[in-house]
Amino acid sequence: MSDFKLARRVAELPPYLFARIDKVKKEVAARGVDIISLGIGDPDLPTPDFIIDALCEAARKPVNHRYPDYEGLESFRSSVAGWYGRRFGVDLDPKTEVVNLIGSKEGIAHFALAVTDPGDVNLVCSPNYPVYPITTDFAGGETVFIPQLEENGFLPDLDSISPELWERAKSIYVNFPNNPTAAMATPEFFRKLVERARETNTIVLHDAAYTEIYFDENKRPMSILEIPGAKDVAVEFHSLSKTYNMTGWRVGMAVGNPQLIGALGNIKTNVDSGCFQAVQEAAIVAMEKGDAHVAETRKIYRQRRDVMVEALHKAGIECRVPDATIYLWAKVPAGYTSAQFVTKVIEETGVVITPGSGFGAAGEGFFRISLTVPTERLEEAASRISSL
Ligand SMILES: *Cc1c(COP(=O)(O)O)cnc(C)c1O
Repeated sequence: MSDFKLARRVAELPPYLFARIDKVKKEVAARGVDIISLGIGDPDLPTPDFIIDALCEAARKPVNHRYPDYEGLESFRSSVAGWYGRRFGVDLDPKTEVVNLIGSKEGIAHFALAVTDPGDVNLVCSPNYPVYPITTDFAGGETVFIPQLEENGFLPDLDSISPELWERAKSIYVNFPNNPTAAMATPEFFRKLVERARETNTIVLHDAAYTEIYFDENKRPMSILEIPGAKDVAVEFHSLSKTYNMTGWRVGMAVGNPQLIGALGNIKTNVDSGCFQAVQEAAIVAMEKGDAHVAETRKIYRQRRDVMVEALHKAGIECRVPDATIYLWAKVPAGYTSAQFVTKVIEETGVVITPGSGFGAAGEGFFRISLTVPTERLEEAASRISSL
């Protein structure tokens, strides 16, 4: 067998964070315990039928069997612009300020290649989606983590970033509503972020995957592009994955600053060949006809949230009631690290949850619950946790 020397970026990847937990889960399952997995951020609800019907119809058109344009159908980009206009009051030029993505993870990952040179610094507000620092590393850049602390409502303290670091930083990654903390940005926070970024020529990358999964009509999550001047510095990544239960379909979009959208497009044209046009056509139908369905989805998550928060509180576990996302971010009881507590919960109850430390050092002391199982299963998981 040959043994090749792999690239540093692969050879030095941090060990798979959840491998140990996976092992414990398998051991517990082997004992015959009924496992309830609340570990993965992947909706259990199906994609609505009207979107599937649109895909089937579009899949029969031969024109859709050919290579798509990497930037997406003009009709898809116009539909994104229309959706942003209706939902956020944000004006986008579909030709220059919107690009289609093969899921927003694809765009987030490729974006680092478009702006990061070896030695460049990117700021990542943490706990964080692991893709941000990994792809900075792939591009030869360096990540500086900005902690999102409980005492600041899990928002990063922008004043804690020194003027020198602002000057050095190429970009800053933010994600609201947040995975894993479920925190929402305030308009003041976004305003200040845009202001600092404009003063210091820093790119703002906003991952907005969860803006539609909210529970209070008076606190609807914002697009960062609602802030005047944001388009000078910001790119926002969005996705149909969580909004319409379409994680497997791989379709999303990046919108905002035209120079940066163009640069991302430039990377994409060299490495991918776009998203299946039939999927884009179905995505258009989702964006244009999906509002009533998303409203139902919000109700389901809200009910699940209430069941689980109550159970945690009964068990004496601290957990804020989130206003958005499909997650609960709860505090590990005193005397355990995140990993120890998560292991104990799996071993004693068969309920799989995610240690906060899996999202970076700033997540230590917390665990994440995904509300992605039917209510009956969530009630069962809740009752097991309550009896811990
Ligand atoms: C789920 C999720 C996404 C969406 O990813 P897709 O590639 O569009 O499916 C993006 N960012 C975060 C933080 C997520 O949790």
